[in-house]
Amino acid sequence: MSKRGGKGFYELSVRTRFSAAHSLKDYDGKCASLHGHNWEVEVCVRGGRLNKSGMVVDFGDLKECVRRVVSRFDHCDLRQLAEFSNENPTSENLARAVYRALEREIPRGRFRLWRVIVRETPDSSAAYSEAE
Ligand SMILES: [Zn+2]
Repeated sequence: MSKRGGKGFYELSVRTRFSAAHSLKDYDGKCASLHGHNWEVEVCVRGGRLNKSGMVVDFGDLKECVRRVVSRFDHCDLRQLAEFSNENPTSENLARAVYRALEREIPRGRFRLWRVIVRETPDSSAAYSEAE
């Protein structure tokens, strides 16, 4: 039973897209050579209380925040970014990088960052969360 007395919670998500190239080391497959994807990032936040307008958070505000974080990945070779100097720019590592960057932007309060999902293709996704 949660401290909120089992009243339930809301989960909101926004999606944004960007295009970027990557290549994978120590990997035997198509993604070993440099190529691009149209990545989709889905960000979920979770909160138990609504504001006066009846919202957990304004979708527009959340989307703007996500776009700001994701914009640095747009139209670049992910391998060149500091985040991926020591690890492969896989969907998994990208999801964690976006999560960590967003955590700095979204202080825990009425709602909190819950999960980041990165889709490399419409059918393949990796989710990352540090929520317990
Ligand atoms: Zn790939």
